[in-house]
Amino acid sequence: MKINENYQKLPGSYLFSTISKKVKAFQKEHPEKEIIRLGIGDVTLPIVPAVIKALHQAVDEMGNASTFHGYAPDLGYPFLRETIAREDYEKRGCDVKADEIFISDGAKSDCGNIQELFGPEARIAVCDPVYPVYVDSNVMAGRAGEYDPSSGIWSKVIYLPCTRENRFVPGLPKETPDMIYLCNPSNPTGTAMTGKQLKVWVDYANEHDAVILYDAAYEAYISDREVPHSIYEVEGAKTCAIEFRSFSKNAGFTGMRLGFTVVPKELSFGGASLHDMWARRHGTKYNGAPYIQQKAGMAVYSQEGRRELAEQVAYYMRNARTIAQGLEEAGYEVAGGVNSPYVWLHTGKLTSWEFFDRLLENAQVVGTPGSGFGPSGEHYFRLTGFGTYENTVKAIERIKTYG
Ligand code: PLP
Repeated sequence: MKINENYQKLPGSYLFSTISKKVKAFQKEHPEKEIIRLGIGDVTLPIVPAVIKALHQAVDEMGNASTFHGYAPDLGYPFLRETIAREDYEKRGCDVKADEIFISDGAKSDCGNIQELFGPEARIAVCDPVYPVYVDSNVMAGRAGEYDPSSGIWSKVIYLPCTRENRFVPGLPKETPDMIYLCNPSNPTGTAMTGKQLKVWVDYANEHDAVILYDAAYEAYISDREVPHSIYEVEGAKTCAIEFRSFSKNAGFTGMRLGFTVVPKELSFGGASLHDMWARRHGTKYNGAPYIQQKAGMAVYSQEGRRELAEQVAYYMRNARTIAQGLEEAGYEVAGGVNSPYVWLHTGKLTSWEFFDRLLENAQVVGTPGSGFGPSGEHYFRLTGFGTYENTVKAIERIKTYG
């Protein structure tokens, strides 16, 4: 039997399992010590009342023959696509039409699936450190080449290091990629590129016939006016960029699943319309996001929903600011925490894992070693604002005292 041998090339995904093993071992040895987890990449606050109300109404509709909904339209209900086009794009001066918006079950699936539209020889460029889905989905498709365990590098992937030396803004590559993954604001560094910095990439992509795959999952956390909420705020992006959005981090839908992808009609690659290809793919392999979820998504744009969700985002951002400021006061070099709930700190001479061990041992605080996100993540560490405010304050006090 022939299998897809590319799966065999994937190195084990040890980051979170190693963290969990280390925490368990510490707990066993020190059962009296309270551990605070600030490595969380998931939201922790419950779904807001406006969305819960919409969910209840949609559930009731499903129980009534006259309002029951079966299969949803493959590409999404017009009510949601039109609302997104108006609220997320038109109001920001972006020319994105409802039929360029594809509703899905979240950004992870779309970020992972988008590579299917490109040929096996297409070269990818990724920021380093990076959200691992971009690389792994291309490994599965046979596009990444061979893995070198000693350097953590794939032979055919073009890496764009994002370190304190370039203030976490990727520089243009020497080799020309076909697909450029940009996550803005970035997971894991928590930093964000401005419109001016993105324009460099948009111009580059248009000149080199490359496609930018723009992940804006953390768009709701942007506070800096120089940072665009959509790549389409940057002139020229409609001919070179696909944008991924998620309801997970702006509305707490990580357990509900809803997102969307924008593929402009102007965007072609090798003479083919990526819009038509994505529509075909979506229609063939996806049967539409659930009606209930899409109704819940509508409530996110209601006046009440917006107000309640702004409070949630503010809560997480207060945590992120508390972490960033506290660490700075403790003498750490810190990035992020302004346009994103992620704080990225430099671990000095210690490796990311040595720092993890020290923090667990001395302060009983758990974070995520930066090296788990790529070779340039070594000597960095990620903490997040997704915990409770009380635990965040306590963790920072401990780090200041014992870390
Ligand atoms: N993109 C980035 C950069 C993320 O960090 C995450 C989740 O952590 C996702 C996408 C996944 O989003 P979703 O929950 O919509 O699948």
